[in-house]
Amino acid sequence: MSNITDLCEISPAYVRAIAPYQPGKPITELAREFGLDERSIVKLASNENPRGISPKALAAVKAALPELARYPDGFELSRALSQRLGVAMEQIVLGNGSNDVLELAGMAFLAPGCSAVYSQHAFAVYPLATQARGAQSIVVPAKNFGHDLDAMLAAIRSDTHVVFIANPNNPTGTMLAAAELEPFLERVPKNVVVVVDEAYNEYLDPALRCPSIDWVGRFPNLIVTRTFSKVYGLAGLRVGYGVCHPELAALLNRVRQPFNVNNLAIAAATAALSDDAFVRESYELNVAGMAQLCDGCKRLGIGWIPSYGNFITVEIPRAGTQQSQAGAVFQKLLRLGVIVRPLAGYAMPDHLRVTIGLADENVRFLEALEAALKA
Ligand SMILES: *Cc1c(COP(=O)(O)O)cnc(C)c1O
Repeated sequence: MSNITDLCEISPAYVRAIAPYQPGKPITELAREFGLDERSIVKLASNENPRGISPKALAAVKAALPELARYPDGFELSRALSQRLGVAMEQIVLGNGSNDVLELAGMAFLAPGCSAVYSQHAFAVYPLATQARGAQSIVVPAKNFGHDLDAMLAAIRSDTHVVFIANPNNPTGTMLAAAELEPFLERVPKNVVVVVDEAYNEYLDPALRCPSIDWVGRFPNLIVTRTFSKVYGLAGLRVGYGVCHPELAALLNRVRQPFNVNNLAIAAATAALSDDAFVRESYELNVAGMAQLCDGCKRLGIGWIPSYGNFITVEIPRAGTQQSQAGAVFQKLLRLGVIVRPLAGYAMPDHLRVTIGLADENVRFLEALEAALKA
């Protein structure tokens, strides 16, 4: 055992320096910790779809169960995506969550001696995908909690291989308009890969969505990533995808595990993709829930960052003290059975991120927040 320290030291220093990802607290864990009834707990911490899995996707999962002895085949899902998006199948890379595709971009393009550019307060997986490769992170200060594209462009160095952009961004909920992103893509050097992470694309008002899939045809250095974890309600199955130039896709596929997406995820995602009613209802529920939470926060005198996702990031006032109160409010909410996400790890110590839930879950959060702020 005494040699375990020596053993760990043969791991590259850049691996040992990684700060582990901090997931939202699971319902089961909170129930154990405070002796709460699981059914009384409201989890608004991981931007999951509060409606759960769609009945069509669930039926597809059940139908796929007898096939579990076989290795998965992503052909049907890739074909469904290619038809839906109007791209060639060779342009699609399936991932074990879109997180996997972000990692594939890192694996294919980053190494010690290279750098990746991303924004302050951007999604936590970008630093992970960069550090795991021993590449350097260039973190560009945010502008009004969103991406400062001019500064990001200026930050690109000759050793920069990848730029990560989340649109909309998590955890701030900010959005870049096509009129901002398109000129950026035109100006980025052609030998730099740009990953545009659209995990929340389906939650955007259709009028605000970027024609990002069309851009893939114009910009061979662009990778657009999307997921089935959010509006499609399949976070626990782990499935997402990237769309890019076929040669870029071929490169990502070289570092991809051959069977990275499992049978059940493939079946569920293929069914979910065609469940337009479920997606539309989930979108509408989110619009209504966003208005409900914004109204409630206004009533409580709590500020928030205008959000384009299925979550809202609120600012907990310091209340005269010089100390951040967000951590204490987070803990009080836990005791009241409401799980949200603290953002100290995103250099936002005064903010909490709250997923838009079902109407009654949003009420529970607002009541708990009111109580936590008074206590
Ligand atoms: C949730 C999220 C993802 C993807 O998650 P997967 O479950 O791995 O598909 C990617 N990017 C952002 C910004 C997210 O918030």
